Amino acid sequence: MLHCQIHDPTKLVDKLRASPVIKPICRLEKGTTPGVGRIYDCLNRLWLSDNPQKAIRNPKPKGSKRPKSGEKLPPKHPGSVKRLVDKALEGRVIEERPEGILQEILKECAVLPSSKLGLLGNPNKLAVAGDGAPLLTGASPYGKRICDCRSKGIYRCNCKRVFTDPHANWGWDSYHEQRFYGHTLYSITSADSKKDLPLYLRLVQGSRNDSVTFVFLG
Ligand SMILES: [Zn+2]
Repeated sequence: MLHCQIHDPTKLVDKLRASPVIKPICRLEKGTTPGVGRIYDCLNRLWLSDNPQKAIRNPKPKGSKRPKSGEKLPPKHPGSVKRLVDKALEGRVIEERPEGILQEILKECAVLPSSKLGLLGNPNKLAVAGDGAPLLTGASPYGKRICDCRSKGIYRCNCKRVFTDPHANWGWDSYHEQRFYGHTLYSITSADSKKDLPLYLRLVQGSRNDSVTFVFLG
């Protein structure tokens, strides 16, 4: 899917069936191309969440706060980091982790072999760095209208709309100094490796402050 830049299982199946090159790369023999349902099954096994793929809610404002050049937005709730740390120290932080299987795959296929090859520095004295990067979503931040205001001539309304990526929200990209709609890919990388090899990846809401995410990484 990544190689073909196709994120729609239906289109992927069409491509697999039509391409004589991609089929053997995926080790599919003649007549064994999986159907669309099987691709969705596979995706569901990789992403451990029963979250609905859609949500119906009121549109949220984009927000107008702009931090100073080169700075990040301050946490929305200033005391939240301390409260979270206190909770975490008591072992009381419970958070859903739908990407758990993908983290397992990263660990088994990349992190452990890299460590054995000595690419991550001294495993007993790991030096790590953590940072969040914006991961834009293809879903619309404005949602899809389901009301009939437009037919009545009302073009700006606040009625409930359908959102296809319900967990995405507006965040601040401090590097490009602009707002983005989506998620934040938070990564812990090995600071001793030459290429900043990733040790751990997490996906959180676009708006979430890095300092809050860091508590959950523990
Ligand atoms: Zn409306």
